[in-house]
Amino acid sequence: MAASWDVIVIGAGMAGLSAAQQLHAAGRRVLVLEKSRGIGGRMATRRDETGQWDHGAQYFTARSAAFRRQVAIWLRANLIGRWHAPIYAWDGQNLSISSPQQRFVGTPKMNAPLGAIAATLDVKLSVQVTAIEATAQGWQVNAGEQIWQAPQLVLALPAPQAAALIPVAHPMQAAAENIPMSPCWAVMLSSEHAINLPFAGAFINDGAISWLAHNSSKPGRSGQHWLLHASVAWSQAHLEDSADEVIALLIQAFNRLLARWGQAEPHWQHAGAHRWRFAQGSSTQAVVQSAETGLVLAGDWLAGGRIEGAYLSGIDAANALLAATAGQQRNQS
Ligand SMILES: Cc1cc2nc3c(=O)[nH]c(=O)nc-3n(C[C@H](O)[C@H](O)[C@H](O)COP(=O)(O)OP(=O)(O)OC[C@H]3O[C@@H](n4cnc5c(N)ncnc54)[C@H](O)[C@@H]3O)c2cc1C
Repeated sequence: MAASWDVIVIGAGMAGLSAAQQLHAAGRRVLVLEKSRGIGGRMATRRDETGQWDHGAQYFTARSAAFRRQVAIWLRANLIGRWHAPIYAWDGQNLSISSPQQRFVGTPKMNAPLGAIAATLDVKLSVQVTAIEATAQGWQVNAGEQIWQAPQLVLALPAPQAAALIPVAHPMQAAAENIPMSPCWAVMLSSEHAINLPFAGAFINDGAISWLAHNSSKPGRSGQHWLLHASVAWSQAHLEDSADEVIALLIQAFNRLLARWGQAEPHWQHAGAHRWRFAQGSSTQAVVQSAETGLVLAGDWLAGGRIEGAYLSGIDAANALLAATAGQQRNQS
């Protein structure tokens, strides 16, 4: 049986939930559909009995006035915290301190601010949308046997996943197609003892690893948990490797770095890996929404490829739909 909503948002990451929040605040009946078992998308934290790791986005910054306002609200509600720890860069020879900036993380886990938004909305989890179709009334959304309908639709997905759903004849299909999004292998480690490094996170501009972080140094975390991200080139070259192979190779690379920094090889108690197929990417051109068709796109790739961009793209997408509705109402009166 088809259910009716004003707007359906596909994807419960930062972009989808900021769009949904904006539409909900404007009085729209919004339904959010998400394929995973939880919300947050790439703002993700994995927990198990041995600890927790932010294995996707590491932190976010806030440059625009709109996002700073939102960040201030989350700070007041203790949904995010400031990560004050020093961040370094390694060029293969020297460690140097990276430029100081305000870095924020969700507390106690990365998706905490999104959880607060989702709690005010109708969100259906474990729903993988398999097709969308333009109808006389707007849009029909299919997830296997399940069907939903709404006059308006927000696709808040990484570009390749959006491109796969948008009908070929639709003007937004070309905007999402051929936007390259790079992969990233993440490795999660915990060590028996503290590792004595001068930084809490470091950009590694040499070799297989591109970023490493002492995850436990972030507010609301504890223990001796480390997170490694492989470089784009390495992740592409090892995309189809097994998790065990990736863990072994990236531990070797980390141990080599630790030796260069005068550290003994740690005893790793736990190791896990996660492959992000569409980690980061960004359109090089501004994308003009065609909201009059009832379909708009949102996602980090539309606005610079980061959490702040995802937030702003969601607001833009929602505003485009609200403006289109206002225009239609003016034409009818
Ligand atoms: C390894 C890594 C490191 C990063 N580091 C940083 C960082 O330090 N700072 C920073 O600002 N950004 C970072 N980013 C980028 C940041 O995570 C993203 O910019 C942001 O989270 C993207 O939000 P989004 O809503 O656009 O997309 P996503 O978070 O990808 O959300 C899309 C959602 O759509 C869902 N979905 C997909 N297909 C379907 C379907 N068919 N049906 C239903 N649901 C579907 C997905 O499950 C997902 O929840 C990093 C990303 C990765 C992967």
